[in-house]
Amino acid sequence: MTPYHRHLTGWRDYYNFSSYKPRERGIDSMEFEPVIGLEVHAQLLTKSKIFCGCSTVFGEEPNTLTCPVCTGQPGSLPVLNRRAVEFAIKLGLATNCRITPHSLFARKNYFYPDLPKGYQISMYEYPLAVDGFIEISVQGQKKRIQLIRIHMEEDAGKLKHGETPETASYSYVDFNRTGVPLVEVVSGPDIRSPEEAGDYLRKLRAILQYLEICTGNMEEGSFRCDANVSVRPKGQKEFGTRAEVKNMNSFRHVEKALEYEIKRQISVIEDGGDVVQETRLWDANEGVTISMRSKEEAHDYRYFPDPDLVPLRVNEAWVDEIRKGLPELPDQKKERFVKDYQIPEYDAEILTSTKAMANYYEECVRLFPEPKTVSNWMMGDLLKELKRDEREIDQCPVTPKHLAEMLDMIKKGTISGKIAKDVFGEMYKTGDRPEKIVKEKGWVQILDGGEIEGVIDRIIAANPKLVEDYRSGKEKLFGYFVGEVMKATKGKANPKLLNDLLKEKLKK
Ligand SMILES: [Zn+2]
Repeated sequence: MTPYHRHLTGWRDYYNFSSYKPRERGIDSMEFEPVIGLEVHAQLLTKSKIFCGCSTVFGEEPNTLTCPVCTGQPGSLPVLNRRAVEFAIKLGLATNCRITPHSLFARKNYFYPDLPKGYQISMYEYPLAVDGFIEISVQGQKKRIQLIRIHMEEDAGKLKHGETPETASYSYVDFNRTGVPLVEVVSGPDIRSPEEAGDYLRKLRAILQYLEICTGNMEEGSFRCDANVSVRPKGQKEFGTRAEVKNMNSFRHVEKALEYEIKRQISVIEDGGDVVQETRLWDANEGVTISMRSKEEAHDYRYFPDPDLVPLRVNEAWVDEIRKGLPELPDQKKERFVKDYQIPEYDAEILTSTKAMANYYEECVRLFPEPKTVSNWMMGDLLKELKRDEREIDQCPVTPKHLAEMLDMIKKGTISGKIAKDVFGEMYKTGDRPEKIVKEKGWVQILDGGEIEGVIDRIIAANPKLVEDYRSGKEKLFGYFVGEVMKATKGKANPKLLNDLLKEKLKK
């Protein structure tokens, strides 16, 4: 292929993105490996903004939470929010970073209508925290993802584009979000698959939530992720040319976007082309990444130290004080669950994946002290229902108390384990207590031997041929009789009792 054609291939990829279909192949089977680094922006849950006293409440009337500082009026001066720094330090410590004693705010200059000052205050050469790591498990093995840096910055405003025919040609700007404190967490290029990226993000979000410094809500934009993606032949040390992928606003989208982008880059290389260094947007509707701007169009932000802010000094005593106040973090909680509740590490990993889930589990075990049984129900029926409805556990209609009550009913023999599945389904649908459901539906297990005997007698009388076959050695038929009795009692016969009685009756 001539250089000219190579060039063309690149352009085809560059412009023809909508008709472009990467080859359908599993990434794992390729001789290429992806190299992924992630940049996460997390909104800090302070009451006021990072450089002024305005409230950070979400969802207020546009432009009601603003002042001269966050709207960039001439002569106004920023004052750093101590609580925001404290939160950022917490994250740094929880992710094994070194907190730097001196950091510096800089101006990142660019024009955009949601940025009233014409620059964003951010940290550049001197971030607040460096050299940390987050641990994830990859095929049962622990893997460290390096954190290069964590720095603080202010959020920009939000543009809203007119949606009615009358307003279609207008865009509106809401400065309520301008100046909300953010941390940016930059990982090393250590991630090797979309799944690892998902695990890393989930762990980072869990840490933020455990620390209670960020809601972690991706849909509301309080936890956002950009990815740097490249591919290289397996065994090669040098990195390939990377593309930055933006606009992924859920965990599922991150994994899908990365999968697409990896396949796309491999296809480009296999077709003899070159991957272009550029920024690409994930289009969730089309399931593709689209070129947004190339390297030539990349911004030069002309960073320089913000003369309105003195260098940030963090003394060791303060860091120690914050370290002492750190709560139990996901990895520590996981270890404790394995030790205290004697559950498998796999269970503990899932149960500690969010603080709310861990709290739910512990509350339930407190009320029904059989940890593995509780874990089985949570990891099975409960998570299945939540996943189907795309709900978080704090939106679960079944409370820990109700789940514990239901497990108690199984233990006491009031309901069978089989019926319990239906009871759970109803509890999830209605939010009612299990007793109420069982009573209303008449699902109480039949523990009355006489009643079960009556049913067995009827079934034996109705199947003389099969009974004879059974008695002459066709023991497999036992299961058939069990099934018939269960059918006749709508699954309510106590299984143990039924087995014993049936064996006895069939003998004769
Ligand atoms: Zn303000």
